[in-house]
Amino acid sequence: MSLPDGVEQRAFDGEEALATRGEPVYGEPTADGWRRWAPRRSKLGAMLETDMDTGLVGDETVLYLGAAAGTTVSHVADFVGPTYAVEFAARPARDLLDAAEPRPKLFPLLKDARKPETYAHVVEPVDVVIQDVATRGQAKVALANREFLADDGRLLFAVKARSEDVARPPEEVFDEVLETLREGYDIIERQSLEPFHDDHLGVVATPR
Ligand code: SAM
Repeated sequence: MSLPDGVEQRAFDGEEALATRGEPVYGEPTADGWRRWAPRRSKLGAMLETDMDTGLVGDETVLYLGAAAGTTVSHVADFVGPTYAVEFAARPARDLLDAAEPRPKLFPLLKDARKPETYAHVVEPVDVVIQDVATRGQAKVALANREFLADDGRLLFAVKARSEDVARPPEEVFDEVLETLREGYDIIERQSLEPFHDDHLGVVATPR
């Protein structure tokens, strides 16, 4: 498995698991300052666990869309540089603020990811956009935020089929989402996130 600097396989109760080094956030097991990063709780964790070509090396500048209470973005902020975390729901954002407290490079933004103009004055150009918004129109969100991504940057995108259409077969939904995404990105890898996340697709893309 190719892992970025700052992400390691560590032993927790005798079991090897992905981990980052930082303050615990959601009651996850810790050992010697390392926090277990469970792929079942994180689509990006599942992308790393399934050895997708995320291109992450550590130290990147990141825009994270759909930060929720900070489960995944807190792990990300443990090993990258400045991390802008967008979440539009006030309730999880309160926990996100707690996760950011001991992480000086994690900047929570209580904003709607469909309206990048509302945070464009704060966010610098980034090396990586990570998206996990679980909302209808996921590809449009990625297209709207493409403006922040460096030309040689990457989009790491978790697509949830049910957020687009609960009734249609996930493969059909994925194809349609990717067709829209191609308006602004070249797709370099797509892979199911099962068995960690049902009906989710992991996508790695570069801006065109
Ligand atoms: N990425 C999180 C993690 O792994 O810790 C989980 C994210 S959860 C599946 C999806 C989140 O996206 C929810 O917290 C939801 O409020 C947020 N979301 C949905 N649409 C959004 C939008 N337009 N702008 C910002 N956040 C949005």
